[in-house]
Amino acid sequence: FDSRDGVIWFDGQFVDWKDAKVHVLTHGLHYASAVFEGERAYGGAIFKSRQHAERLIESGRILGFKVPYSVDEIVAAKDETLARMGFENAYVRPIAWRGSEMMGVSAQNNTIHLAIAVWEWPSYFKPEERLKGIRLDIAEYRRPDPKTAPSRSKAAGLYMICTISKHAAEAKGYADAMMYDYRGYVAEATGANIFFVKDGKVHTPTPDCFLNGITRQTVIELAGRRGIEVVERHIMPEELGGFTECFICGTAAEVTPVSEIGPHVFKPATITETLMNDYMAEVQPKPAAVAAE
Ligand code: PMP
Repeated sequence: FDSRDGVIWFDGQFVDWKDAKVHVLTHGLHYASAVFEGERAYGGAIFKSRQHAERLIESGRILGFKVPYSVDEIVAAKDETLARMGFENAYVRPIAWRGSEMMGVSAQNNTIHLAIAVWEWPSYFKPEERLKGIRLDIAEYRRPDPKTAPSRSKAAGLYMICTISKHAAEAKGYADAMMYDYRGYVAEATGANIFFVKDGKVHTPTPDCFLNGITRQTVIELAGRRGIEVVERHIMPEELGGFTECFICGTAAEVTPVSEIGPHVFKPATITETLMNDYMAEVQPKPAAVAAE
């Protein structure tokens, strides 16, 4: 991944992709003092770019540091990186981290860095293929109590249990894993939020110990526009067998139907398909507003 052609925005400058390096004694590497974003550009426009920039800054604030760029500067930097790479449809990855001046748990004065990389990451599936659904394992790790970890931050450290869980699921032939939370309620997948359908209503866990994803919020809004009721609540594992449809959603996953979670089987149907199609329509760049006057 580090030997591609192209450029990466690095602390305000464009550097060659291959030269976008950090020192091995970087605090972010040793102590996970790093926060990042995952975004997608569709037709040359980054979907909800400002909201992602705001979340990045907020993630850093939760970890006790200030990302040294404003929302406007970050939005502009992302657009410029996308333009320089010449991609229309791409994944956008900003990351901010504590640098290498001091090495220890405390690193009060370390410089905060920001880098932005973009790469092509097409939606893998055709809609009809996607509708078959993916299979989820049930993860052994649980989303931690917000008093145990800064769960509202998209912090690198919180992904340790996600990578472990996803690897374990993949080793068993599953696409991903569903995680419970510290209380035993259904939480989310390793990099996406989760939704269920029963009797024409959508149910999704209350995001009180994991990211309230930007895609999740978009899907709730889209369901609202269709008059589909969305219930945000705590979902018990015993309820899984009672849902008929299930899907996960996130910037990378978009809306991806789920066919199985452990022993439970779901059949992607009308509501999943509607929201999947509505999401793909929603992310398309809006035609520039025609000058009215
Ligand atoms: N939960 C986790 C753990 C994630 O990594 C992501 C992806 N950022 C999400 C949920 C969904 O967030 P979003 O819709 O903002 O991409």
